[in-house]
Amino acid sequence: MAEQQTRVLVTGAGGFIGHHLTTYLKNLGYWVRGADLKYPEYGVTAADEFEILDLRRWEPALAATRGVHEVYNLAANMGGIGFIEHNKAVIMHDNVLINTHMIEAARQNRVSRYLYTSSACIYPGYLQRSVEVTPLKEEDAYPADPEDGYGWEKLYSERQCRHYWEDYGLETRVVRFHNIFGPLGTYDGGREKSPAAICRKVALAGDGDEIEVWGDGEQTRSYCYIDDCVEGIYRLMRSDHREPLNLGQDRLISINGLVDMVAEIAGKRIRKRYNLAAPQGVRGRNSDNARLRQVLGWEPELPLEEGLRRTYRWIAQQLAQSVGPTVAATAFTPDLRRATV
Ligand code: NAD
Repeated sequence: MAEQQTRVLVTGAGGFIGHHLTTYLKNLGYWVRGADLKYPEYGVTAADEFEILDLRRWEPALAATRGVHEVYNLAANMGGIGFIEHNKAVIMHDNVLINTHMIEAARQNRVSRYLYTSSACIYPGYLQRSVEVTPLKEEDAYPADPEDGYGWEKLYSERQCRHYWEDYGLETRVVRFHNIFGPLGTYDGGREKSPAAICRKVALAGDGDEIEVWGDGEQTRSYCYIDDCVEGIYRLMRSDHREPLNLGQDRLISINGLVDMVAEIAGKRIRKRYNLAAPQGVRGRNSDNARLRQVLGWEPELPLEEGLRRTYRWIAQQLAQSVGPTVAATAFTPDLRRATV
């Protein structure tokens, strides 16, 4: 139902999920302000207003939250496993500052609802040592042993949301994403996630070529298409559920399986070369969706094959239009690491 008078802020609106969420909320009739360090790279924002702001800083956070009823805080310095393994200090520094300033600014500006985007990376390593992993329930988060750096920051910020509700009555929502993918996401330059990286490698390969796979390819994950993700975010925001909630699919697949699926979509025979020295994250990770179904009466539904087909088509088109170096130059923001706050 359209709520035309409601004004919302989407941070990270220049990024993958924030860009899609902005479009989704505009289509529902919301007035949307987007905020980010950059404009979206692969499309024009649908936001009514878009402000270039560094949300690690207090004044920009206060400015971003002025005059809005609700905040979807998606801004974060992040990337795939290669990026988060090698940038722990800057990730913790930037993302703790962003959420600390954003949630306090939301409180001071009397925002009524605040959504924080957490990650499956908060789940303990000791539960994810097998490819046949037991799907992760929300309460499995403790005793804590999250992904080093990125996961610790997410777990800390989840607690911050909880305490802002308990101490100040700010309505907070916390969503734990499990590998979101789709068109208009980073596919090159070092921050891309596995589905986009595999689509890119397969698109650039010829029939019968070899591509590099990180690890032995037996590690398992579940993947969720972007349209389901933004719908889930919205449903959670509208719910009265204040505890963290998984948002993902619960279909487990290995990286080898993902490569084979993309190769079939592309109509190419692809051989795999394993790089055992590359970062590969936990051995297995899957989402337990029991609570998601119970709380939202819904769960992500687009089949992985169809999501990958759409994603592959988009990445292949992008690559066909732009020669490699141009793509790489636009997809990375190295100045993030040099900036001081
Ligand atoms: P993304 O990198 O595409 O988007 C994040 C955006 O935040 C970027 O556009 C970036 O420029 C912006 N940003 C970074 N630092 C900023 C700053 N100081 N001030 C303002 N903006 C800043 O990532 P995404 O995939 O869209 O992820 C959105 C959120 O979801 C993030 O919080 C991320 O940690 C979380 N998440 C994503 C996934 C996934 O699979 N994509 C999984 C788990 C969690």
